[in-house]
Amino acid sequence: MILHLSKSLSSEQISEYALRHQAVHYTNNEHVVFVLPSAIKSVPEELKSYTQDSWASDSDIQLASKSYRNNVREVAWGKTRIGGNTQSTVMIAGPCSVESEEQLEVTASLLNEMNIVNMRAGAFKPRTSPYSFQGMGEDGLKLLAKMRDKYGFSIVTEVRDATNVEAIIEYADVIQIGAKSMYDHGVLRRCGKANKPVLLKRGFGSTIQEFVQCAEFILSGGNEQVMLCERGIRTFETKTRFTLDLCGVSYLKEYTNLPVILDPSHAMGYAYGVADLSRACVAMGIDGLLVETHPNPKVAKSDASQQLNHEEFRALMKTLNPIANAVGRKMV
Ligand code: PEP
Ligand code: MN
Repeated sequence: MILHLSKSLSSEQISEYALRHQAVHYTNNEHVVFVLPSAIKSVPEELKSYTQDSWASDSDIQLASKSYRNNVREVAWGKTRIGGNTQSTVMIAGPCSVESEEQLEVTASLLNEMNIVNMRAGAFKPRTSPYSFQGMGEDGLKLLAKMRDKYGFSIVTEVRDATNVEAIIEYADVIQIGAKSMYDHGVLRRCGKANKPVLLKRGFGSTIQEFVQCAEFILSGGNEQVMLCERGIRTFETKTRFTLDLCGVSYLKEYTNLPVILDPSHAMGYAYGVADLSRACVAMGIDGLLVETHPNPKVAKSDASQQLNHEEFRALMKTLNPIANAVGRKMV
C-alpha cells in the first residue's frame, strides 16, 4: 500500500512508523512517501491523521503501477523529455562499446548530422566471457563526455557493477543498468539515491513481475525517474539471439506508469532483422527506441553481428517517422 504522508512528520517519527509498518520511504517535494507491503489493504490507524492520499495495491508492483499514477511519467532525458504527454519516440543510438576516439567520433558526427541527440555506448561491459573485450573503462567515459561537449549529446552508458556505479553516475546523463545487472541490488539501491534518470534493462531470464519489481527498488529509494527497456528474453528459440517480448511491452504500457524503450538490436542479435523489428517497435507507440550502430560492424569489439553500419542506420531512420506519425507520435 502506498501512502502520501504530510511533511510535518519529524524524521524520528518517520523512522519509527516505517519500522513499525515495514515501510520503505522517501521524501519528495510534496510528501513523505511510505510504501507498505502490498498485503496491507487499509491505512494503519496511527498514520490516518498524517495520510493525505493512499493506494492499496494488488501486487508488489506499486510505485510503478497505473493504479498509483494513471499517466506515464515524464522523464528528463538530458535536454529532451521522454514519456508523459510528449507523444515522442526518442531515438537512442550508438555503438555497443566505446572502442577508440576515432570510432566514437565517426558515429557521433553521423548522429549529429541526423539530429539525433541521444548517444549510447558502453565503457564498462558486462561480458559473457572474461576473455572478450571488457570495455575501455573510465577512459571510455571520458571519450563519451568529449562527444557530449562537442555535439551537445545526452549520453547513456551502462553500469557494470558496484565498482563503477559512482563513475557512471558522475559521467552519464542517463544511467543504464544492463540485463545482466538487473538483479544487482547494490546497483539498484545506489541508483535509487542518484539524481539522474535510470534506464533499466530487463534480465533475459526474468519475468515482467521480476523486472518491474527491480524498478521498484530504484523508485522506492526516491529516484522517480525510471524507464524500462525490453531487450529480448531467452526462449526455446535459438535461430535469433533472444526473443523480443512485444506482448510484455503491451503489458508494461497497460499496467505501469514508466516510459518504455525497446532495444531490437540485442533481441535479434543479427543486423539483418534490426530494421524490421525497429519498425514493429515504433508501430507499438513506444517512448524510445535503442539501436546499435557502428562505423564498421565487422571489426566491432562487442556485438559485431547485430550492429547496423551507418548506411543501414540512415536507411532505417528514413522509414521510422511515418510509422511514428501513424500511431500519433513523432521520432525525436
Ligand atoms: C548493451 O546495451 O550494449 C547491452 C550490453 O545490453 P544488455 O544489457 O541488454 O545485454
Ligand atoms: Mn551491445
